[in-house]
Amino acid sequence: MIDDRILCTDCRELAPNGNCRAAMRRERRDVRRDYGQAELDLPHRCEFFRAKPDAEDQRSGRERYPTMYADYLKRFPEAA
Ligand code: SF4
Repeated sequence: MIDDRILCTDCRELAPNGNCRAAMRRERRDVRRDYGQAELDLPHRCEFFRAKPDAEDQRSGRERYPTMYADYLKRFPEAA
């Protein structure tokens, strides 16, 4: 089985201080503005993931986890 999880450390949205830029600009509304993943090296699934420019797989979190993103939009329809 293929592991489809990602790391925040592989994401363009990770700010130098460890916070999530998607949360800071309120694109991600399910967490606080100053949200930072507690364990940056913990594999997980995130619909706001944005691959770094040099990554081989450039799919966004929305593309990787469409069901999760659809669920998010049901909870936060104003984010669409
Ligand atoms: S968008 Fe998701 S994967 Fe990227 S830094 Fe924020 S929480 Fe981590």
